[in-house]
Amino acid sequence: MVLSKTASQTDVSVHSTFASRYVRTSLPRFKMPENSIPKEAAFQIINDELMLDGNPRLNLASFVTTWMEPECDKLIMSAINKNYVDMDEYPVTTELQNRCVNMIAHLFNAPLGDSETAVGVGTVGSSEAIMLAGLAFKRKWQNRRKAEGKPYDKPNIVTGANVQVCWEKFARYFEVELKEVKLREGYYVMDPEKAVEMVDENTICVAAILGSTLNGEFEDVKLLNDLLVEKNKETGWDTPIHVDAASGGFIAPFIYPELEWDFRLPLVKSINVSGHKYGLVYAGIGWVIWRNKEDLPEELIFHINYLGADQPTFTLNFSKGSSQVIAQYYQLIRLGYEGYQNVMENCRENMIVLKEGLERTGRFNIVSKDNGVPLVAFSLKDNTRHTEFEVSEMLRRFGWIVPAYTMPPDAQHITVLRVVIREDFSRTLAERLVNDIEKTLHELDSLPSKADMKTTVAGEETQKNNVVVAKKSALETQREITTAWRKFVMEKKKTNGVC
Ligand SMILES: *Cc1c(COP(=O)(O)O)cnc(C)c1O
Repeated sequence: MVLSKTASQTDVSVHSTFASRYVRTSLPRFKMPENSIPKEAAFQIINDELMLDGNPRLNLASFVTTWMEPECDKLIMSAINKNYVDMDEYPVTTELQNRCVNMIAHLFNAPLGDSETAVGVGTVGSSEAIMLAGLAFKRKWQNRRKAEGKPYDKPNIVTGANVQVCWEKFARYFEVELKEVKLREGYYVMDPEKAVEMVDENTICVAAILGSTLNGEFEDVKLLNDLLVEKNKETGWDTPIHVDAASGGFIAPFIYPELEWDFRLPLVKSINVSGHKYGLVYAGIGWVIWRNKEDLPEELIFHINYLGADQPTFTLNFSKGSSQVIAQYYQLIRLGYEGYQNVMENCRENMIVLKEGLERTGRFNIVSKDNGVPLVAFSLKDNTRHTEFEVSEMLRRFGWIVPAYTMPPDAQHITVLRVVIREDFSRTLAERLVNDIEKTLHELDSLPSKADMKTTVAGEETQKNNVVVAKKSALETQREITTAWRKFVMEKKKTNGVC
């Protein structure tokens, strides 16, 4: 009796997946394979390769939600096969998006009656929301210039140099010049006075950021509004403001309700917010809200009827999932004002714990503010021996993902590390992170500085001692990592993996 047929000759279903031929060959990377493979094998192969990705919960680089309640996960899974654009077929989903728009517009103090419908739309994220808002400004400005018989071929937007990359995309894709107010050491947001100075007759809007990506700081939208009101009066222009509240839009209303940054300010005509940041939904949802119908030119709205009834749409793409819209509605009604306030306050407290822990080490300058987005941005007081990039790299060994990046002009000589505090980043994790950062510093202290490393490496050319050579290669790896990081960041001009 012969029982020794190998796994490669028999059906996979009777073998351990790991012993089957499907996991014994290299994975297809360039061309689609000729033949099918069993579903168990496909699952296992992909699942296992994904184990090498970082752990999203320990990814402190991102504002984007990594945890939701299991009840909401269930709603998400049950809507995974619904195309959002089929509004006539899924009218309830459309209705939920409209309710979200209304609730967010009220949160931002849009001038609406209690049961008046707001003007806004759900998007894939703030980037799409910003493209739509930018297009509305561009079209309005062009219409006005045309009516006045003036040239309308050189539109520009005034922003701080700290803008998120999506503004640069908008500028390039839609041919609008981006006029950036430069930063300076110690001041990492747009200076409203300088911004208003840069405004000219071709400025389609000034974009202010509520929650700078770089250090979480809120820009002074009220001062910007007041200065711009003056300038408009003097010049006869009508320059409006957009607020990019991608990260701060779900923070300020709950923990700084007195702060005037939204539609309470007359020149603020549109606001975007990322539902997938502090809106507490997984990646794939953003919102843009307009102050009034008049701020969204009708000619940008398309009306389609091939899915059933007349449907107005103003988005960049057509099909998309419905789950995120449903999840956003879940969060809004499940948490309510009270719930969001609790979550944001908790994030703020954990931010303070982390900040104070870092201050106690005596080794860092804190460059974030206590009253912005709950994050801690910090740089080494002394980075001559070791850099922020090395700290970032070493923290990965504990599993933490903490990005290091250089600031935009004119503060590009400053490098910071940034930890974003999300809902699921608990007090315990904050305390552990401080411990691990301390350990990292001790380890770095015991390593020779880059200057010492050069001498060691040079000395070894002549002295071929095995022990020293082994030490050298460890140091070289360390140095290569640092150099690679530097190169990576410099090449990208702007920020890198922070989002
Ligand atoms: C995250 C962010 C964006 C981009 O948002 P997405 O939702 O990721 O597209 C734009 N602006 C600011 C200030 C951000 O923080």
